[in-house]
Amino acid sequence: MSEKFIPLTDHRQFSKKLQIPQQLLAATGKLADSFGRPLHDLRISVTDRCNFRCVYCMPKEVFDKDYQFLPHSNLLSFEEITQLARIFVAHGVHKIRLTGGEPLLRKNIEKLIAMLSGIRTPDGRDLDLTLTTNGSLLARKAQSLKDAGLNRVTVSLDALDEHTFQHMNDVDFPVSDVLDGIQAAHQAGLGPIKINMVVKAGLNDHEIVPMARYFKDTPHILRFIEYMDVGASNGWKLDEVIPSSEIVQRIQAVGMPLIAVDPNYTGETAARWRYQDGAGEIGLISSVTQAFCQDCSRARLSTEGKLYTCLFATQGHDLRALLRDQTLPDHELAISNVVAQIWNNRNDRYSQLRSENTELPEQSRKKVEMSYIGG
Ligand code: SAM
Ligand code: SF4
Ligand code: SF4
Repeated sequence: MSEKFIPLTDHRQFSKKLQIPQQLLAATGKLADSFGRPLHDLRISVTDRCNFRCVYCMPKEVFDKDYQFLPHSNLLSFEEITQLARIFVAHGVHKIRLTGGEPLLRKNIEKLIAMLSGIRTPDGRDLDLTLTTNGSLLARKAQSLKDAGLNRVTVSLDALDEHTFQHMNDVDFPVSDVLDGIQAAHQAGLGPIKINMVVKAGLNDHEIVPMARYFKDTPHILRFIEYMDVGASNGWKLDEVIPSSEIVQRIQAVGMPLIAVDPNYTGETAARWRYQDGAGEIGLISSVTQAFCQDCSRARLSTEGKLYTCLFATQGHDLRALLRDQTLPDHELAISNVVAQIWNNRNDRYSQLRSENTELPEQSRKKVEMSYIGG
């Protein structure tokens, strides 16, 4: 193993047995955590596998041929995912994002999308159903995803320059295939399409301006993401982060002036900026330099059914064990109350503590991997 990478401890196995509350109550749709934050957004990881080996997410040195991915029986089935999604929607979730690993690698993903798209919020509205993908299979699948009921996609693309992109995905995957996927998604009506670019200093920061130029004047929204210290395998260092403020400066410096725009809703992860000439907008996700924990209303469900209340959590809550416990009386109501209890007790604010330079708890060095928990 290269000395750049921190050896991995497998934290997927750790989780406490969940206690069912004594008194079971029906969901009100108005959960609040210990800081008063609601639960609006659920990210579901449908596979821990990926056909890319992005150097900042699944470095080859760790995710090699001997890496133990989850066996199929450990994965939540589509029925189990749908049952949990219904419970979360009753608690106030109205946006569901499928992620991974690479979600389009999960067999028959369209079937899951069709099942999820049948869920309505308590007041009868459709869900906002989206998916984040590396785009490699999108040209082939865009239309069937749309037909199944998917509303939108976010496509990750870290560079337009072939050499840089292939170095980052580390499997020699060509840029043109991802661009074809974006085009197919646009034609299928999966827009507005968001393009995620993780910026890592010295690796692809020279692509900030070319990417901005390329997606300006298109209906797609390019979002620059600060490289995060998620997981334990990417050997993160603070000096590899390019602050969002610098990204804005670099774009403005080459004659593309930007104006800050109000967020679409409270808790939106990306700060919005519009081109002064009206040629579209960009987003900046400043998880490192401007923590947005204060309004974080996101829960994450891992591939094997563990609930994580923060991207940087070290432990998940094993909902799959409850789902598969046939002896549990009032099955769905009991799980619903466990979810409520977990959310009510939530006090996560990792990024905020990091940026306040507060000493982080010892266990926070043992974070789970992004490819397992879902981005
Ligand atoms: N495979 C899909 C993809 O790449 O879009 C979905 C899963 S991926 C984990 C979700 C998002 O997380 C991607 O946009 C990816 O670039 C981002 N990501 C992964 N590791 C990251 C890191 N260390 N810092 C910031 N973003 C990261
Ligand atoms: Fe795969 Fe997405 Fe991680 Fe890249 S960022 S390795 S595409 S899961
Ligand atoms: Fe939410 Fe945790 Fe990220 Fe803060 S660090 S914004 S609580 S996921």
